[in-house]
Amino acid sequence: MSERLILLSNDDGAWSPGLASLARVAAGFGRVVIVAPDRNRSAISSALSLHDILRVQELGPDRYACTGTPVDCVLLGIRALLPRTPDWVLSGVNHGFNLGEDVFYSGTVGAAFEGCMQGARAAAFSLDPDGEMDLIEPWLRRFLERWETMPMPSHRIWNVNFPKGEPRGFQLTGQDNRTYHDMVERRLDPRRDPYYWIGGDMGPTYARSAGSDAEAALAGQVSLTPLRLDMACPEVMAQREAFDAAFRGGLP
Ligand code: MN
Repeated sequence: MSERLILLSNDDGAWSPGLASLARVAAGFGRVVIVAPDRNRSAISSALSLHDILRVQELGPDRYACTGTPVDCVLLGIRALLPRTPDWVLSGVNHGFNLGEDVFYSGTVGAAFEGCMQGARAAAFSLDPDGEMDLIEPWLRRFLERWETMPMPSHRIWNVNFPKGEPRGFQLTGQDNRTYHDMVERRLDPRRDPYYWIGGDMGPTYARSAGSDAEAALAGQVSLTPLRLDMACPEVMAQREAFDAAFRGGLP
């Protein structure tokens, strides 16, 4: 069997410490190729550059910075830079959690989903903003040692969130709900014209529902959430009668 080929990307940029950590650990599992954005591209989700050209800068052997988004990086890596589809696509380690609905905004998760759509086994990694990379590296290594033994259908990724401090263990989790406070702030510029700032001061609060990613990660567990690309809702799909009652006949 040929050497395992591993593509790494992230959304914090090619020089982020989390990516260096991931590269250090991943190097123990095969040939690692890094293709990462040349700047911070956090919260850009699965954006694809269709109207801009992409430039790639070779930073060293198997190490590239790209002017595009995390998804551009993964696509470019697989279609233009790597000799074949990688076995693994690993994204992160993001500075800050990706819990609950964060996954819809996250470029870290976007890159992992792209890897999975391109046919690789993929995972997104994120760390509590107050967490320490040194402490979680052995846990990251343990995850990568074990994850191929866990059955996983295609079109799924693992969303991994590391807690701050020394983790207590791994926990299989669902997806929590998140609330942002003061999400859009209106301010005035020096000419007294308004501008707006997304994010607010308080940051998110998580519902921390039982068995969720947020509950686990905030309780010191390494949260492992399997995410699926197919978001169609089986509970509603099963309500065929209610659907027919509401929509049968189309326009009169
Ligand atoms: Mn980020």
